[in-house]
Amino acid sequence: MKNQVLCGIVAVPLAAFGLCGYILWRWGSADVYVVALALDAPLVFGTVLRLWSDSKSWHQRSTPIPREDPLYPRTIELAMKMGVPQHDLYAADPTLMAKRRAVGAITTGIRRHTVLFSDYFLKALTQEEQDAIIAHELAHTKQSHALRSVIASFSFYFAGWNLFFFAAIPNLQTPNLPDSWVSGIAGAGLIPFVAGITMVRPYIATKSQTEADEIAVNVLGSGDFLISGMKKLIESPEIKSDQKKYRIARQSLYGRMVRIQTLSRSLASRNISQKNTA
Ligand SMILES: [Zn+2]
Repeated sequence: MKNQVLCGIVAVPLAAFGLCGYILWRWGSADVYVVALALDAPLVFGTVLRLWSDSKSWHQRSTPIPREDPLYPRTIELAMKMGVPQHDLYAADPTLMAKRRAVGAITTGIRRHTVLFSDYFLKALTQEEQDAIIAHELAHTKQSHALRSVIASFSFYFAGWNLFFFAAIPNLQTPNLPDSWVSGIAGAGLIPFVAGITMVRPYIATKSQTEADEIAVNVLGSGDFLISGMKKLIESPEIKSDQKKYRIARQSLYGRMVRIQTLSRSLASRNISQKNTA
């Protein structure tokens, strides 16, 4: 089931691009290639620029945590244990965190990675709870979640938009293609475009969280501190101040805690049975 969904996620944009390629090959001319390139280039450029300015604003508006802070050696130790590069640590800008509906901690960056912490995370969580959540954040880096999500959602928008635009090409070249064909291709282009926003992105986001939790629990050997840290985050002033805005964030925290509990129990029983057989 899990793999089928992933295959579907990869197959949809590939099929759309294949159809675009077919249209170009069948009806395209040198001019059409130039037009396609001219329309696609700004989209790619714009996305890269947006990612870049996004990471810049996180860094400019947040406060770097001094290297002497005990959080640094603890994070480095975890990173080494997990086989991920060293991360820069910041106290996150509260407005940016609120904009993202992020609670506690967030990881940014595709090439150079940064973990940003909320004020509440730094003040209210114990060292063990902080480490557990840091392990979760580092797991996002380990699995290249940011890159995966950018590539997946972008390929859906991009493939959808191209199909929509390529629907016109046959009629530009040979004005005898039935209108139903043109609207059919254009309509098919809207599907991946909308699906990218409404389904693929949320699906990947949820899956990334589950995966990061699993890795963190395995690294820590238990989910206890992750759960107690998350329990505190649910009580954080951000969520308390605006229950409606953070409804999804809160629900996802509850859902994750249940999964972590189950995972933690099965890990504990496995350890016991290993000890018994040894
Ligand atoms: Zn996460």
